[in-house]
Amino acid sequence: MKRLCVSACLLGAPCRWKGDSKPCEAVQRLAEGAKVRALDAQTARFLSQAEFAEPFSFTDDRGPGGAAVEIVPFCPEVAAGLGCPRPPIELVRTDEGVRVLRVDRKGDVTDALRAACEAQADALARTGGVDGFILKARSPSCGLSSPLHDAAGRQIGAAPGLWAALARERFPAADFRDETNA
Ligand code: SF4
Repeated sequence: MKRLCVSACLLGAPCRWKGDSKPCEAVQRLAEGAKVRALDAQTARFLSQAEFAEPFSFTDDRGPGGAAVEIVPFCPEVAAGLGCPRPPIELVRTDEGVRVLRVDRKGDVTDALRAACEAQADALARTGGVDGFILKARSPSCGLSSPLHDAAGRQIGAAPGLWAALARERFPAADFRDETNA
């Protein structure tokens, strides 16, 4: 069975900073009939509130000979305990390298986010690995290529989100996509 780790908001979980979701029809279709199970409690809680573009129910576990795909939804920002809704964050080039800061510059969430992402990577590795990722584009956590800012908030380039970078490092053989080519 193929195993894919997916940004939870693409499945319809209302875990974005504004408290909304970003359902992607292709991702939701993939989840139809799949085994869908979050490995962390925070994402699981938001997943139970997911709204789907079309009515269907996914199967938690189809048992032997069942689903061809297992989907592991993950929201790094709720897993990191950043809350929902929460202040928006962005990637910022600093003297200490690229950090994830609140847009209002009232906090640095890099370490909390990294700890949650490391825990998710460990959980994926421990439970059978992962074949691919479908990640939310342009997110400072999930994006494969996201806006990079200077201290003043000006965009100065692009960089991978923290989860995207860490996942690539931990699972170099996996397939990486975002919702624009899911
Ligand atoms: S952190 Fe990732 S999964 Fe969570 S809301 Fe942002 S883009 Fe979606």
